[in-house]
Amino acid sequence: MSKEIGPLDVALEQLEIAAKILDLDPGVHAFLKRPKRTLTVSIPIRMDNGDIRIFWGCRVQHLDSRGPFKGGIRYHPCVNLAEVTALAMWMTWKCAVVDIPYGGAKGGVCCNPKEMSEAELERLTRRYTNMLLDFIGPHRDVPAPDVYTNAQIMAWIMDTYSRFKGYSVPECVTGKPLIVGGSEGRTEATSRGVIICIREATKRLGMKIKGATVAVQGYGNVGWNAAKIAYDMGAKIIAVSDSKGGIYNPQGLNPYKVFEHKEKTGSVLEFKKTKKSITNAELLEQKCDILIPAALENQITEANAGKIKAKIVGEAANGPTTPKADRVLQEKKVFLIPDILANAGGVTASYFEWVQNLTREHWTLEEVNHKLENIMIRAFNDVYKTMSKKETNMRIAALLLGVGRVAEAIKTLGLWP
Ligand code: NAD
Repeated sequence: MSKEIGPLDVALEQLEIAAKILDLDPGVHAFLKRPKRTLTVSIPIRMDNGDIRIFWGCRVQHLDSRGPFKGGIRYHPCVNLAEVTALAMWMTWKCAVVDIPYGGAKGGVCCNPKEMSEAELERLTRRYTNMLLDFIGPHRDVPAPDVYTNAQIMAWIMDTYSRFKGYSVPECVTGKPLIVGGSEGRTEATSRGVIICIREATKRLGMKIKGATVAVQGYGNVGWNAAKIAYDMGAKIIAVSDSKGGIYNPQGLNPYKVFEHKEKTGSVLEFKKTKKSITNAELLEQKCDILIPAALENQITEANAGKIKAKIVGEAANGPTTPKADRVLQEKKVFLIPDILANAGGVTASYFEWVQNLTREHWTLEEVNHKLENIMIRAFNDVYKTMSKKETNMRIAALLLGVGRVAEAIKTLGLWP
């Protein structure tokens, strides 16, 4: 991973570019640059061996001009305030790009879940939720999963929040298990949205998903589901990776079998149908039609952008590409589908879950996928049209749409007092 520029530098530079083109009022630009509220917490946890350990955590609430704050919670040893602030800002633009009534937020706890027991993770989650209690809630700020957090962790958040309220509040968090108010299709929704965008892009470029070669970086929830959905549509998955490294086979890998192997061994490495092992850096540079970064930020940088051979890059991860790398990819005529559009299927399905919880309804998988498809296609078309009209690229077009909608909302609401 390149250290050349951090995610917050990237987010602020992107905002700067959009503000200039939109000719934003400097006051509104200043408003958009900073989060409305940042809460940092020290979370004391009793570990299984009896020791007390203090974990650092935060919740950053960027803006709520278009609706309640919304955003995932990340558990990772490298989580820091600048990263979470950038992720919160991207959530604000993302919700505006798909035009759902939410603002943007993100949370993080600096920990290594791979080295913690389930009981330790539960205590950490409950105590963290308790410390956020006055700042989150169905009409304030609605958390969801992100890297190394999952449906079980969301269930603990719901339970802790509900215990303090004295009644069940499923609408306080999304990405929950089905049995406690989760939505059909939520687990796969981010990846489904990514593949819908890629499919729309292939139509514009005269390509087809069927038979296209695909490389996926990151084999967690988003990466594995993206590989599976693309494979089911006839694509050939030639390379996948996780934090330990990657595997490659030009004849194609069966993502279901790779997933089974990862479940058993903890990694995609040493999957038996592997032709050769590759590094994460090599995965990005593989010859393929479609590249899906689905891990962390800052993966495609000025240093390796020139070596990307894919025709389409679908950003499943948040912030995988730096602005300098964007310019290189544009010169190479790579069609990049930016994160705030490509991975917006996750928050869109989270929105569906919240609506179902608030109305005490349960939609079928078909209903969820149909609504998701409509929203993603509409957003893709909106961004594509903006790109053509402004003669720019998809990243800047998505920012113009997202930042523009948020700035318009701020102006319409006015400044109190
Ligand atoms: P996850 O925890 O399920 O999986 C993360 C994956 O990334 C794992 O396979 C891990 O091994 C791999 N990984 C970690 N460090 C890596 C590295 N240095 N190089 C390569 N792989 C590495 O997380 P997820 O929910 O799949 O999230 C992945 C990305 O998608 C993140 O950027 C996240 O912000 C973004 N995203 C997730 C959602 C969602 O609904 N979960 C929604 C929108 C965006």
